Amino acid sequence: MPLDPDKQRKFAVDVVRTLRSHGYEAYWAGGCVRDRLLGRLPKDYDVATTARPDEIREVFSHKRTVPIGAQFGVITVVGPKPAGQIEVATFREDATYSDGRRPDSVEFSTPEADAHRRDFTINGLFYDPLEDRVIDYVGGVDDLGRGVVRAIGEPRARFEEDKLRLLRAVRFTVTFGFSLDIPTRDAIEYMASQIGVVSVERIADEMRRMLMHDSRAKAVDLLHEVDLLPQILPELNAANDAEATTAVGRRGDAAWLAALATLDLLSEPPFPLALAALLVPFVDAAAARGLAARWKLSNQESRSLCWLVEQQAALVGAEQMPWSRLQPLLVHDNARELIALLAVLSEVPAADRPVASRADLARCRQMLARPALEINPPPLVTGDDLIELGIPRSKAYQRILQAARDAQLDGLIQTKAEALELVKRLLNE
Ligand code: ATP
Ligand code: MG
Repeated sequence: MPLDPDKQRKFAVDVVRTLRSHGYEAYWAGGCVRDRLLGRLPKDYDVATTARPDEIREVFSHKRTVPIGAQFGVITVVGPKPAGQIEVATFREDATYSDGRRPDSVEFSTPEADAHRRDFTINGLFYDPLEDRVIDYVGGVDDLGRGVVRAIGEPRARFEEDKLRLLRAVRFTVTFGFSLDIPTRDAIEYMASQIGVVSVERIADEMRRMLMHDSRAKAVDLLHEVDLLPQILPELNAANDAEATTAVGRRGDAAWLAALATLDLLSEPPFPLALAALLVPFVDAAAARGLAARWKLSNQESRSLCWLVEQQAALVGAEQMPWSRLQPLLVHDNARELIALLAVLSEVPAADRPVASRADLARCRQMLARPALEINPPPLVTGDDLIELGIPRSKAYQRILQAARDAQLDGLIQTKAEALELVKRLLNE
């Protein structure tokens, strides 16, 4: 069942009210406060409280709580169906970080200390929904007003603790259209080479969120500017510029600007399409396969990405192509993405790349709009037919069936009888 934003918010108010009525302090915390102040609908709500995990479970009953994050002081409280669930966390501060990613342990603490363990000032706010009051220990309200992403406390130390924050900083900056506070930016650049301690799944997830967002070109450019890009996507490094050991050419290069323009033109692309658009000007299908494996992309994402990169030029000249050659591309699951990729690549021509013409794209779109049975009719002959004819199973099977299929698609044969005729002729050749 989809969540109802209104019910979600009401439940988040109820959770605070219930904790308060049991004598605990409780506020909305972090991202939901930020989103609300920005006039955006929060995806979900987090509540921070003085209640300890076992006390939270007692207040909301064991039946309605899940202690998944209990060792970090987090209890999930399950609401009525359309309201979803809320993470309720005890105010805490993080002890030491020895792995550059997660605190070794947490200690229960005060709201102020809890605000200071958070990553950026815009994420460090509390909100009291009962009194409509923002509680700001970190200057987050000012930074939200000015549109600045700033680390809480000493930036290098904060990135040292948790290197995922390097990517989160870039993501918040670009997706909100904010600017990056200069000392925070400098610390990111200083720490960029250490992004490798973050798990590939988390890196891929941040990249997924950035590349799927409208601001994807800005994200990629900012990642480049702060030196994260060559760490995350080393396959882009060698491309383009023998002198550049650290990144794809220089940021001002024509090829780089063209790549950004291409990304900008995509409209609500799925992740594999956006990633393909970024890779295509610089790498081949083998590199795309390597990346998909390194990032542990799902089979589906991986297949789409590799196919798109591999087939990037396959629709060039589609207008003149025999239907038997175009059809297999257009009946592929990712045909629409391939057309979208080609369309944006064609709008930003690069000297060394053949581009699709308007007529190529128009034919693809026209054909794709036809009923499925028309563009992908059942084959006139199959392997079973060959067996029935007593033709011994052989390597030639595949070739003969393909020839019959092509002839069918190209309108050279219309009936099963004609198809069998053709098969016999090919066998005798
Ligand atoms: P979004 O959900 O839109 O990505 P968010 O700010 O809600 O943004 P979450 O990952 O849901 O991000 O985390 C909720 C809050 O927890 C953040 O607002 C922040 O206060 C804190 N937080 C999350 N990740 C970190 C981190 N790596 N370091 C420090 N604080 C963090
Ligand atoms: Mg969130």
